[in-house]
Amino acid sequence: MTTDKSPLHEVDGLCYQAVILVGPPGVGKGTQGKLLAGIPGIFHVSSGDMFRELDVNSKCGQIFQQYAGIGKLVPDHITIKIWQDYMAAKVHEQVYRPESDLLILDGIPRNIAQAGLIGPYIKLFKVIYMVCEDREVMFRRIRGRSLKENRIDDSEEIVVRYRWDVYKRETEPLIDYYPQDLIRIIDADTTAADVLHQILSTLVPIQKNYFKPPVM
Ligand code: ADP
Repeated sequence: MTTDKSPLHEVDGLCYQAVILVGPPGVGKGTQGKLLAGIPGIFHVSSGDMFRELDVNSKCGQIFQQYAGIGKLVPDHITIKIWQDYMAAKVHEQVYRPESDLLILDGIPRNIAQAGLIGPYIKLFKVIYMVCEDREVMFRRIRGRSLKENRIDDSEEIVVRYRWDVYKRETEPLIDYYPQDLIRIIDADTTAADVLHQILSTLVPIQKNYFKPPVM
């Protein structure tokens, strides 16, 4: 991980200039991700969506189904390999331009081991930490989402609660792992527009200071 002020820091080739989104399941990362993805100059990657796009009959697709179905994380080395291939494909297809697009990583890294593995590939600007103290609010949101989106991991209460435990044990420690001046706390227990407003107050200055105005 590089946190210096230079615009593009290359380590073994391409370096992705990124912001990481961290928050528990149901906190609203997906909603915010979709809104952010519509902004020119921002490229949003959701690891959950990345996995769900895999062919269910492929080896990786099967592995994902096996782990996600019971609320477990896909093993780190497989996750990172899939992520690297996914990023390379997006660069190749020119839908993501590393020199001019701010990358939002949503759902990856999911633990400290993954943070170590992706560290060399990213220049990290901020970690956006979405906080909602009331976990019942989040369980309610997930139940609502499962009715709408037909997700294998949302339908069973026990799996949802297990994912919460996995988040607490594996993902939340990322907040202590990264330098504290990079952490930006967002109150997620409010309207989607208010959450977006808070997130943009962090992203807009980064975009203005480090990236050329996006071509629209
Ligand atoms: P949520 O944020 O609601 O937990 P996601 O869509 O981000 O849902 O992830 C769904 C599932 O995909 C996870 O429970 C896990 O099995 C798998 N997954 C997503 N991201 C990662 C990751 N970075 N590492 C390992 N597994 C992951």
